[in-house]
Amino acid sequence: MTQSLAIIGGGPAGLMAAETASAAGIRVDLFDAMPTLGRKFLLAGRGGLNLSHAEPLETFLSRYRPTMDLIADPVRAFSPTRIRAWAESLGINTFVGSSQRVFPEEMKAAPLLRAWLRRLREQGVRIHARHRWIGFDQSHHHLLFSTPEGPLKVTADAIILALGGASWPHLGSDGSWQTLLTEQGISVHPLRSSNCGFKVNWDRHFIDRFEGTPLKSIAGSTLWQGEVFQQRSECVISQEGLEGGLIYALAGPLREAIEAKGHAVLTLDLLPDWSHEKIRIKLATPQGKLSQKNFLRRTLRLSDIKWGLLREVFKEELPRTPEALAQNLKALPIVVTAMMGIERAISSAGGIHLQELSKDLMLKRKPGLFCCGEMLDWDAPTGGYLLTACLATGRTAGLGAAHWLKTLNASLEGTSLRHSSDQPPPLESPL
Ligand SMILES: Cc1cc2nc3c(=O)[nH]c(=O)nc-3n(C[C@H](O)[C@H](O)[C@H](O)COP(=O)(O)OP(=O)(O)OC[C@H]3O[C@@H](n4cnc5c(N)ncnc54)[C@H](O)[C@@H]3O)c2cc1C
Repeated sequence: MTQSLAIIGGGPAGLMAAETASAAGIRVDLFDAMPTLGRKFLLAGRGGLNLSHAEPLETFLSRYRPTMDLIADPVRAFSPTRIRAWAESLGINTFVGSSQRVFPEEMKAAPLLRAWLRRLREQGVRIHARHRWIGFDQSHHHLLFSTPEGPLKVTADAIILALGGASWPHLGSDGSWQTLLTEQGISVHPLRSSNCGFKVNWDRHFIDRFEGTPLKSIAGSTLWQGEVFQQRSECVISQEGLEGGLIYALAGPLREAIEAKGHAVLTLDLLPDWSHEKIRIKLATPQGKLSQKNFLRRTLRLSDIKWGLLREVFKEELPRTPEALAQNLKALPIVVTAMMGIERAISSAGGIHLQELSKDLMLKRKPGLFCCGEMLDWDAPTGGYLLTACLATGRTAGLGAAHWLKTLNASLEGTSLRHSSDQPPPLESPL
């Protein structure tokens, strides 16, 4: 007999779980609260869908926190190379950009999502949109959904939850599953912003002049627990602080420092292509009648925004000696005071404690209930690491559920043979 699998959540993790389990011959019903699937995935494609990254696999794996096999093993099994081959099997060619990031040739998510949903339908996956999962019934034997037609009870032989984090909640993943699972005794680390902007107490004049200005050709670093985290990228000055790739990449250590100390220091190298010594020598040349701003512009090609930042940090007390000025151009300290809200973050940190899960991502306390994607307690910077882990853990959960159902089926068939009955006995609910 065919066992049924209910997958809740139609983002990249749930879709990959559905593809894997249905390819293994399992009957899959996929539920999502929204009218259409993959809304965050589509948003991710708006700025260029960064599917994965082409750096060596062990370097790639080192980007995840915590560095546990529970995330590393799925990614090893469904590596960036395999993800590219998978996208190509859907008719989506990919390329490696100059930063080693992997993108679809068209950069967008929509063509990939369309081809993917077509494949799922061809594999027999039944999609139920506008079905919001609201918990288990009192007997714990049914999944409860609210639908436009009213409440619905669903029984399944196994379940995969792929409910995402809590950023951009209007796209579907609002983190409300945290209460539903903690009520079941599952340990969940509260969701909070990751890959998000950080707040800086800018002076009014500074923000009036520079809000929205990109800070290009810079590097940033932060020291946390004896380790220096560095990134060369860009960011943007915003009303409340700083946003963009450079900040997202350092979000993990910055967040941890703020949680521990109430603030963190982001050190900016405003001239990463110039050595300290070269800057010092340039600054030691006579300034003549030039203002300091024009002197720095002339000798170091320092942009207005970089000059503005120097003034913002030092106000009227700008270091005067070439040595001290060079030092600060290479390591300008910016105090960040808080993370920006989760509703605009790229991703969420926190989620289901990894200790709760077996290696095929089944909840140890709830046999038959699997979880995958951003709702698990791992974190990574932008660069394709997020989607890679969502796809890879979705695949692991799909394979795990298929294997679990087949084992269950085999044991039931053994039972029914022993009872010489045409009808197998009712299945025990996984819940
Ligand atoms: C602006 C932006 C840009 C991004 N760009 C990139 C990028 O370029 N590269 C990258 O690697 N990552 C990127 N990400 C991150 C990436 O999109 C996410 O990490 C990924 O979508 C998470 O996948 P998921 O399947 O775990 O969850 P989601 O994609 O959030 O999907 C979860 C699904 O579950 C459904 N759901 C939630 N609760 C319920 C419920 N109670 N009942 C029924 N359904 C429910 C939701 O409707 C949703 O469809 C970006 C994110 C954002 C916001």
